[in-house]
Amino acid sequence: MPRRTELLYMDDSYIRKFSATAIDMEEDAVALDKTAFYPGGGGLPSDTGIMRIGDEEFKVPVTYKKGDLVYHILEGGGLVKPGEIVEGEIDWDRRYRLMRMHTGLHVLGAIFYERMGALVTGNQIGVDRSRVDVNIEGFKRELIGSILEEANRILSEGRKVKIYYLPREEALRIPGIVKLAGAMPPNVERLRIVEVEDIDIQADGGPHVANTNEIGKLVLLRTESKGRRNKRIYFTLEP
Ligand SMILES: [Zn+2]
Repeated sequence: MPRRTELLYMDDSYIRKFSATAIDMEEDAVALDKTAFYPGGGGLPSDTGIMRIGDEEFKVPVTYKKGDLVYHILEGGGLVKPGEIVEGEIDWDRRYRLMRMHTGLHVLGAIFYERMGALVTGNQIGVDRSRVDVNIEGFKRELIGSILEEANRILSEGRKVKIYYLPREEALRIPGIVKLAGAMPPNVERLRIVEVEDIDIQADGGPHVANTNEIGKLVLLRTESKGRRNKRIYFTLEP
């Protein structure tokens, strides 16, 4: 039995359903040999969905990563033995919206970086709204407006989002590959690279849309000052 979960969303963020083999159980959570559920991290919440085991169906409200394994909590206390086959299905409406928010946030962060060398110091991606913190001094609301406009223009251009792997050393030589301040990519030999055509390239482990024309429009909700050099920006998506 392998002691690691293959992360299906790394190569294909559009997998909604999959079958897998249980490899471990802890309390009310099952670890599988592979999964399409994102276990959370990098400002993105974990996926939710359902798991079918034989004739039973369980809600999966949370998934989490522990070491190399991804565990899926089974609501109502499902018991799975190692070696049993399960069918997983993620809540696609929720996940797809999170993917659109996520890729949109990459484009937004890239423009902040390009226009003023500002780094993202934190982010929280949500279904209804997301927030991004940027390290920037004395900026005005009009400036955010123009940055959002530029981001929306780029999104509507239908830029391709490419996902591939590079050796760690080679990847870390690319300027701007790490845009989240203080966040070094995981200590692995090959880094997963997410590239939004001609605007952003980042080492990243989360699910993304394949083309920016799937995202729609970023809409500014409000901004907050978080200290002299930190601005917090809340936005949502339309539609
Ligand atoms: Zn990301």
